[in-house]
Amino acid sequence: MSPSTHSRSDLGIVLRTRPLREADLLVTLLTKDHGRLVGVAAHARKSRRRFGGGLSLGTVGEIDFVERPQSDLVRLEQIAVVHPPPDVRTPLVRFALFGLVLNLVEQMSVSHQQGQDKFALVRTVVAATEALLPQSLFLYFMVHWLALTGFAPTMTECARCGIFCGAAPLVCFASHEGGVICQTCAPQVRGALPVPSTARALWHDLLEAGAPDDVRPLSPEENAFFHTALWQYLQHVLDRPLAAAPYWPVLWESSRGIA
Ligand SMILES: [Zn+2]
Repeated sequence: MSPSTHSRSDLGIVLRTRPLREADLLVTLLTKDHGRLVGVAAHARKSRRRFGGGLSLGTVGEIDFVERPQSDLVRLEQIAVVHPPPDVRTPLVRFALFGLVLNLVEQMSVSHQQGQDKFALVRTVVAATEALLPQSLFLYFMVHWLALTGFAPTMTECARCGIFCGAAPLVCFASHEGGVICQTCAPQVRGALPVPSTARALWHDLLEAGAPDDVRPLSPEENAFFHTALWQYLQHVLDRPLAAAPYWPVLWESSRGIA
């Protein structure tokens, strides 16, 4: 190894793999100490010797990699599986929401930036994916992920005037304003959605305490609110449409009743 390269180890979660050249794979991972990492797994398409099952989406593994000077791409040497990926083949909605989680993590993570709390959250989601109601787990993930990435919507003060909205029943939510809107400001805001006070309380409770299995099933009003608000807000934060957009209504509705 040349003196200008550095061997490293870290825990990582596989977010995406793409073919590269004839035999290699380009692998995107979220790591504990190096943030988002994109690495080349040489010969991974032809030989499974070094990577085994370690390149399946959602795998948690101990990765050995080599950083290269003046390159964002690392060379992946080995992945030892610590936790296999969840079995998400059925039902389809679990597979689709899990894919959406990995996709959001990939798009909203920063390269080479330590993020143990983000890593821990995604690892929790990976571990709970087979057991929990997909809708509950997705909501849990979103509440915490938005907070950890600095994009949490404001749910207690009006995003426009800053007044405390408390448990006021007639509060609206506007993605493009960044959160809830008080009664006074609401008439000046286009496209604001009514938000049930219980939905705001649930958001707050999840952020404060919650383990993923603490998420209770949503009432019809909360379900309708999150269906629209969560998606609009995500698109606002990302500033581009998500690939899953056409399926979102079906995805959200069918993620409700599947344990
Ligand atoms: Zn206001």
